[in-house]
Amino acid sequence: MATKCSIPAIDLQDFPNQLSKLISACEEWGCFRLFNHHEVLPLTLMSEMKAVVRSLFDLPAEIKRQNTDVITGSGYMGPKVNNPVYEALGFHDMSSLHDVDSFCSQLDASPDQRMNKYHFTPETVGSPGVRTHTDSGFLTIIQDDDVVGGLEVMNNSGEFIAVDPSPGTLFVNLGDMATVWSNGRFCNVKHRVQCKEAKIRFSIASFLSGPREVVEPPPELVDDEHPRVYVATTYEEYRKLRFSMKLQAGETLALLCPSSSDK
Ligand code: MG
Repeated sequence: MATKCSIPAIDLQDFPNQLSKLISACEEWGCFRLFNHHEVLPLTLMSEMKAVVRSLFDLPAEIKRQNTDVITGSGYMGPKVNNPVYEALGFHDMSSLHDVDSFCSQLDASPDQRMNKYHFTPETVGSPGVRTHTDSGFLTIIQDDDVVGGLEVMNNSGEFIAVDPSPGTLFVNLGDMATVWSNGRFCNVKHRVQCKEAKIRFSIASFLSGPREVVEPPPELVDDEHPRVYVATTYEEYRKLRFSMKLQAGETLALLCPSSSDK
C-alpha cells in the first residue's frame, strides 16, 4: 500500500528561481511534477495526444504488431500471460525522422512516443501493471492518465508514494544515466504501476535515453571529496548490460563501479 505524500512540484514559468528546488528534487526524489509548461506544450496538444493514443490502441492486433522493435523493447508489446493488463506501442528515437516515419507507416497513424494501455479489471485490482523498476535512460517525461491513478515512486525510506493524477501537468522521473552523469548525486527513482481500480488506464512516456557518446560526470561534480563513482559508458553499452543481467531496478549500476571490476 502506497503512502500518501506529495512529490516535489516545479513551476516552469518561475526559472531560474526554481533551480535549487529542482536540484533538490533530483537528489532526494529522482522525480517531480512539472506544471505551467503550457507555452511549450499546450493543453490542447496534450488532450489531442491522448485521443490519438486511444485510437491507436483500438486498431486490430495484427496492425499493432506491425510496430516492430528497433532496439529491444521499443515496439509493440501485447498483453502476456504473466502480465495480461499491460499493452504498449512505441518507437525508438523521436529525434529521428526515419523512426517517426516508419512508426507512422507501420500503424498508418500520427506519431507519439511510448504509449501504454492498462486493461485493469475487478480481478486485477491490487496486482501490478508494471513491476518495480528504474528507467535505464537519463529522464522520462510522462503524460499520465487524467483520472485513473496507479503510478507509485519509492522515496528514500523505501516506501512507495502514490503519484496521483494531475491533469494538465507532466510527471518527470530520472533514470540510471542521470545517476551516472551526476556522479551518483541524482536519484534513479524506483517506480511501478499498480492496479487500483477496474478502469482502462493510459499514459504516454517520452524517454530521453542519453547522448550517443560516452556518459561521464562534468569536472565540477568530481573532486577529492566526491571521487568518481562510475566508469565511463555509453547508453547503448549500459542498456545491453542491463538486458543481459535481466535486472530492472538499477542493480546493474553496481557493475560500473571501478571497485567492482577490481574484484
Ligand atoms: Mg518506467
